[in-house]
Amino acid sequence: MKSLWSDADADAYVAKYAPQGVNRDLALRVYTTRLLGGDPRLVLHGGGNTSCKTDVTDLLGESVEVLCVKGSGWDMGDIEPAGLPAVRLAPLLKLRRLDRLADEDMVDFQRGNLLTSSSPNPSVETLLHAFLPHRFIDHTHSTAVLSLTDLPDGDAICREVFGTKMGYVPYIMPGFDLAKKAAEVYEQDPGVEGLILLKHGIFTFGATAREAYERMIAMVTLAEQRLEKGRKPLVAAAGLPRNPATLAEVAPVLRGLLALDRGDGAYQRWVMDFRASPAIRAYVDGAELARYSQQGVVTPDHTIRTKNWPVLLPAPEAGKLEDWAKGAEAAIAAFESRYHAYFARNNARATIKKTELDPMPRVALVPGLGLFGIGASAKDAAIAADIAVNTVACITDAEAIGHFQALPENDLFELEYWSLEQAKLGKGAEKPFARQVVVVTGGGSGIGAATAKAFAKDGAEVAVLDRDPEAATAAAKACGGKALALSCDVTDPQAVRAAFDAVVERFGGIDVVVSNAGAAWQGTVGTVDDAVLRRSFELNFFAHQSVAQNAVRVMTAQGSGGALLFNTSKQAVNPGKNFGPYGLPKAASLFLMKQYALDHGKDGIRSNAVNADRIRSGLLTTEMIASRSKARGLTEKDYMAGNLLGREVTAEDVADAFVWLARSSKVTACTVTVDGGNIEASLR
Ligand code: ZN
Repeated sequence: MKSLWSDADADAYVAKYAPQGVNRDLALRVYTTRLLGGDPRLVLHGGGNTSCKTDVTDLLGESVEVLCVKGSGWDMGDIEPAGLPAVRLAPLLKLRRLDRLADEDMVDFQRGNLLTSSSPNPSVETLLHAFLPHRFIDHTHSTAVLSLTDLPDGDAICREVFGTKMGYVPYIMPGFDLAKKAAEVYEQDPGVEGLILLKHGIFTFGATAREAYERMIAMVTLAEQRLEKGRKPLVAAAGLPRNPATLAEVAPVLRGLLALDRGDGAYQRWVMDFRASPAIRAYVDGAELARYSQQGVVTPDHTIRTKNWPVLLPAPEAGKLEDWAKGAEAAIAAFESRYHAYFARNNARATIKKTELDPMPRVALVPGLGLFGIGASAKDAAIAADIAVNTVACITDAEAIGHFQALPENDLFELEYWSLEQAKLGKGAEKPFARQVVVVTGGGSGIGAATAKAFAKDGAEVAVLDRDPEAATAAAKACGGKALALSCDVTDPQAVRAAFDAVVERFGGIDVVVSNAGAAWQGTVGTVDDAVLRRSFELNFFAHQSVAQNAVRVMTAQGSGGALLFNTSKQAVNPGKNFGPYGLPKAASLFLMKQYALDHGKDGIRSNAVNADRIRSGLLTTEMIASRSKARGLTEKDYMAGNLLGREVTAEDVADAFVWLARSSKVTACTVTVDGGNIEASLR
């Protein structure tokens, strides 16, 4: 591992923050915290923390010595000075006199000594930083260091690797006791450059930001060098299928097995994030996977994101998915029982009784395929997957030179159910479409873009499909930047299949499909060229069929219902003069909606449509609005509001109807009209 320190960058941080009143110490603290946080081999998702001791001037003009320490909720990779709240140091130091200190009292005391009351909570490891005398202290959960400390003889190997340069702290849960123990270890030999926290991570310290940071790099490099010596590779399991099933086949089946049926068509679903690489495959295909993967996390901090163990699934073989599903279902059930038993066993021993968290896995290992992160959102699933990938690296290295050994489960339980750790996970009510995956075709503009945005706003993971890749990308960005943009010509069945596979590969499955793409063709029905009519049928009918078929394929694989939504049109009900080429396939699509409701109601799949009229979009261009309003002697405004209510209908109004239909678990075979009132197009 190389030091990324640069004098020029360091100076740039000092210069950048000086106008905000941030002193040199804190600016450099931000700089090296980001250097550490930018490397996943050192820091992952809120793990790790740093501090500096410095002097600041308070409101009275008096100089105060403070500890600026990482605040909870900040990531080291993109931290700002506000993410390192200043706590008065002198009162923190006095705490060392106490024999014991309850976690809540510790948090309260730390908050009470913040210089800025609106700051985030200082890290749970604040006192450890406070009790050590150094100006700069860096703490990471370095993968290489964990590979060494997580060996049965990790203590001895670390002593051999780091010698007297480091102090060695036995495993103690973070908090007051660990802070005191770390300070004691340091004081036994004040010459050390840092501390190895067995089964937890590493601290380095120094008089300057650069010294603490470069000591971290130097120590981690020593660990990496040790892991290069005398390696033996993981042994592959025998009998893995030669022809494995694909990710696109496996993911929806797994997602369905994880979904919790809450009755009446409501499911608690999960979003998945798949990862595969040669290293991941070597790990999940390993003959001893069941031994090394099922012991526990590599550092206790990961427990809240991944639970203590991943669920271990069978290897899926092409053409034998039903067998695989049975095996996977049994494995998930076994995981849940194991989790319940683990909770009951450890809760019985706990002095303060806990409430059991949900028993579902957050990581699934699939031999022959790879691994899935599982979460309540794409973001949470990605965090679980990132940690799982890191775990693969860490355990693979431990196994290369020995055998991985996790902490005993009571230590992991203590951390998983520690109130301060749970506080790191944001709480609050979930949005109505949280955990759901929504696909919108023709999502690049007009009604499609508005619909994609409306679902994203309500918490859905959204995939925007559009023929125009730039429009798809722009619309996906407007969904808060987290949507998937896919270029797809829906009149090409292979392209539709590929796009649906891509969505499944990205999120694990699909719950709602808005088949919206369409375009208007005109012509008098008695004379229109057959080719025009057929082209319109390709887009305005057959594309809906191909989209809906793919949706049903994924939804039935999941076995947890779903919602199909079609954008039909006023034309489907009330034909416009010379609009036969557009209206005829739209009328067929209205019937298509009913046929899906009829044939797939038994699968819990609902099928509904929205009839909209006169919406500014790709179908109704600015030029068309101008010419039509002129032809009728109306202003554009009056033309657009030419309905019973005299109100212009917007793409957002139509989007709201799609969202309502997707939410309404007891509505199917329904057409909702959103047109401001058009009696000829009214359905009943
Ligand atoms: Zn830590």
